[in-house]
Amino acid sequence: MKNNVPQKSVPQKVNKRIGVIERYFDILPVSSKTPVITLSEGSTPLIKADNLKKILGVNFNLYLKYEGLNPTGSFKDRGMTVAVSKAAELGAKAVICASTGNTSASASAYAVRAGIKSIVVIPEGAIALGKLSQALIHGAEVVAVKGNFDRCLEIVIEICENYDVELVNSINPNRIEGQKTAAYEIAEALGDTPGYQFMPVGNAGNITAYWKGYKELNEKRNLKLPVMMGFQAAGSAPIVEGKIVKDPRTIATAIKIGNPASWKQAESARDESDGVIDKVTDEEILSAWQNLADREGVFVEPASAASFAGLKKYLKEGNFDPDFRGNVVCILTGHGLKDPDRAIDTVSRPPVVEDSVDKVVETAGIK
Ligand SMILES: *Cc1c(COP(=O)(O)O)cnc(C)c1O
Repeated sequence: MKNNVPQKSVPQKVNKRIGVIERYFDILPVSSKTPVITLSEGSTPLIKADNLKKILGVNFNLYLKYEGLNPTGSFKDRGMTVAVSKAAELGAKAVICASTGNTSASASAYAVRAGIKSIVVIPEGAIALGKLSQALIHGAEVVAVKGNFDRCLEIVIEICENYDVELVNSINPNRIEGQKTAAYEIAEALGDTPGYQFMPVGNAGNITAYWKGYKELNEKRNLKLPVMMGFQAAGSAPIVEGKIVKDPRTIATAIKIGNPASWKQAESARDESDGVIDKVTDEEILSAWQNLADREGVFVEPASAASFAGLKKYLKEGNFDPDFRGNVVCILTGHGLKDPDRAIDTVSRPPVVEDSVDKVVETAGIK
């Protein structure tokens, strides 16, 4: 323990936290003419998960890439800073997206900074409360459609073909470019690429982005390619089933997608990396989500826990070597406060007692 205790307090210079465009300028489609629209996104922690490692009884190093600590609470910010900066460079007056929530939260925040209008098309009644409040407080024009996410995406694509608005969904290649920076950060933190990466898959832009990042690192720095382990929710697993899911169902709203826009690219990432795209049930997702919160102190939104749920499932079914020698990273895509209703529905309500010391001591089990 002694070595961990600072011997004396040293005044620290506060480091300026720079966003991904400044940090990764050379590998992004930007130039000195690009206005940098940033909220200092990226540089999220790679957290060592030794408690979970012990519970799982594994020997590999387990890390959590906590993307919920981006400015609007999800990894979408990495892509949005590039997409909105490029839109601003082109003189766009408005950006538009279809969203299960986090894209809209991110797009609306970055649009405000750029002085651009944002339009958000969401599936009615299928957005977690935290995310909807973000888009609204940032002043987005929010339209709820009586249809699912896939339908919303079709609608915004058609609008972009006919009107002067910029699409900022992940089919915009600038989103993918920005999001690939997370692969660079992981490689920098580990001093190497991981052996395996577990992650949720919804519209599949993020797995596409990570794979692009890792392939660049392989080409430029000769780092090995990780095995990509993507997980969809069981009621919403079109890539696993090999067909569009008309009525996707899952409590993990961020991956409730029946026809992923980057389907082909996700399959390429899977096949080129010798990985898998598989599914986890809502029960498995919620159990993993709870483990992350009450064993490791990391609160994520349910969709994010699909990564750790996938790792648990593969270990349990004997499809993953607990003695693997190397680093395993689970991507945690979004913050738990995005979906407070889910947490409140899951836990039991706290007891209410009289305003006395004795009652609190007794009820809290203080001895
Ligand atoms: C967007 C999102 C996903 C899914 O990412 P895709 O790029 O659509 O596969 C997963 N989790 C969270 C929290 C998200 O916001």
